[in-house]
Amino acid sequence: MAKPSFWNNTKRYFDLNSYWRNRFGCRVYKLPIDAGFTCPNRDGRVAAGGCIYCDGRGSVLRQAGDIPSVGEQIRRGKAFYRRRGKAEKFIAYFQTFTNTYAPLEKLRDLYDQALAEEDVIGLAIGTRPDCVPEETLALIRSYAKRCDVWLEFGLQSIHDRTLIAINRGHDAAAFLDAVRRTGGSPVQICAHIIVGLPGESHEDMMETARAIAGLPIQGIKIHSLLALRGTILGHRCERGELSLMSREEYVATVCDILEILPPEMVIHRLTADGYREIFLGPEWARNKLAVLNAIDRELETRASWQGIKYGGLL
Ligand code: SF4
Repeated sequence: MAKPSFWNNTKRYFDLNSYWRNRFGCRVYKLPIDAGFTCPNRDGRVAAGGCIYCDGRGSVLRQAGDIPSVGEQIRRGKAFYRRRGKAEKFIAYFQTFTNTYAPLEKLRDLYDQALAEEDVIGLAIGTRPDCVPEETLALIRSYAKRCDVWLEFGLQSIHDRTLIAINRGHDAAAFLDAVRRTGGSPVQICAHIIVGLPGESHEDMMETARAIAGLPIQGIKIHSLLALRGTILGHRCERGELSLMSREEYVATVCDILEILPPEMVIHRLTADGYREIFLGPEWARNKLAVLNAIDRELETRASWQGIKYGGLL
């Protein structure tokens, strides 16, 4: 398979910036929003304590006190990026915790507030697959008829034994069901996976990637597992009970995954960063640019790109 010309980029994968530039003809930036949601995996409805790697503090804004309105957060974010000449249009990214976990009218009000802001051309909504009842999906579909809407489902792994081990509070069947109910609508799905989860082999991670490659999913976010102070995972790392992936292993695995994904799947992210003040490791993940450069180099060395093996391993 030749590198697809529709990517219209110099990369070896179809990154989110290229997708937006091709679609909207300008630079687009995702503005992270903390709309004050919590998570059923933290508040006891599904489980307590959350996923073993989850930092329960929410955003920096939340730690500082009262959270500003959605509109205020968007206006501040736009001003920040415009001062640097970085973006012309914006996607409101409901990021913190589970952004569909509220009554329908509250969700409508929050999403409407975001779309009422000038130059906001779409929504990205991060959530859990067990948190999208039919009426919520219908609401999100109604926005997708008029703007770019991504529904981002945390999956992390397709293996139930891993989901139990990390206390996700849902199984793989819940993810498959959410994708089935969302698929075919104008809403685009982005799946989040984590590479390097405890107890997972390379083949386990490839099985997760193959499952996603075979589903009607339009985007993927690939994260490295981060150990954060104050989390269960962080405690295990501090006690020396768990070792984290090396950068070489991570880069090779991400490239293996990219090779089997559909060429039209949008790559939203290839590494995780942030959380500087509570970050425990792996040390290499602090330098996001170096990780992305290493992925580029590895694909170049292999003379490979996203989708080159798509179908071959399914
Ligand atoms: S689902 Fe997300 S917000 Fe909820 S506990 Fe897990 S990582 Fe944290």
